[in-house]
Amino acid sequence: MISVVIPLYNEEESLAQLHAELDRVFGADVIGPAELLFVDDGSRDGSWRVIQEAAKRDPRVRGIRLRRNFGKAAALTAGFESARGKVVFTLDGDLQDDPAEIPRFLETLDQGLDVVSGWKRTRHDPWHKVLPSRVFNAMVSRLTGCHLHDHNCGFKVYRREVLREVGIYGELHRFVPVLAHAKGFRVGEIEVNHRPRRFGSSKYGVARFIKGLLDLITVRFLTRFSQRPLHVLGTIGLGLLTLGVFGLAYMAVVWLDPANRPIGDRPLLLYSATFLGVGTQLVTLGVLAELVTSYSIRAEDTFSVAETIEPSENFKEEP
Ligand code: UDP
Ligand code: MG
Repeated sequence: MISVVIPLYNEEESLAQLHAELDRVFGADVIGPAELLFVDDGSRDGSWRVIQEAAKRDPRVRGIRLRRNFGKAAALTAGFESARGKVVFTLDGDLQDDPAEIPRFLETLDQGLDVVSGWKRTRHDPWHKVLPSRVFNAMVSRLTGCHLHDHNCGFKVYRREVLREVGIYGELHRFVPVLAHAKGFRVGEIEVNHRPRRFGSSKYGVARFIKGLLDLITVRFLTRFSQRPLHVLGTIGLGLLTLGVFGLAYMAVVWLDPANRPIGDRPLLLYSATFLGVGTQLVTLGVLAELVTSYSIRAEDTFSVAETIEPSENFKEEP
């Protein structure tokens, strides 16, 4: 079975048409059984009513209504938790993603991938969204090693195992492929048809760029150092500490010669003392982070199993 998870917030005008388009894709029955899981992220318009109506006519439609607006990552997580398919699609509820691309996603997934992300090559969004997005994508690709042209695209498909292992919160929904890649899953992309928004309004503004940058730091830390925070914090801390100690030792030697006193206005004194203070803080912070990790880490966070072999039936003893 294929699940389609659709996070939506105030998209009432788009939903009926989206449902009709999804029906056209899955109605032909070439793809197999599907469930259409609409997750209403606390909409204040008539979105939920539209979903209720659709569910009356179509047994494939399922709905989840969150009590208030929790954000796209939360809506997606709610959908993932209840999705029953072996393959799970995510697509936006605003008609910007074209459901007709679903078969192509599946073909690409079958070429041995675990995640296929959409790439809105020709975008229909204002320039002040497109330009920062370019820079953002290049940075994410470089820093995480997960090379996608369009990390932000809401149109993606995952194998179920991926979602079992990758948890998201906050606004990390853009980084599921990155987190999956860090676990060793195979990630690919295809170009998709992107349509201009016809109804409703975009829920994200320019502020998303700043949040995206902060999230990039989080993701980089989560994927590289989350299991050994002291390695990164401690390395920088020890470096600064060493500089500080040598600087202060040198200043002490200088002070021994009465001709050099007082030394209070020497810049090196100030630098060394600062390095010593900041270095000490980073090391202790690293130890604290290490403590938090050791309490919260679960065995399954430390690896990801691709396949296993169990003794075959032939080896079982006859009763
Ligand atoms: N969305 C959501 N919860 C939110 C914000 C957005 O479920 O708090 C949904 C929204 O309804 C849409 C998708 O996430 O289906 C993408 O949002 P939007 O189209 O506003 O982003 P853009 O396409 O402008 O990047
Ligand atoms: Mg949109």
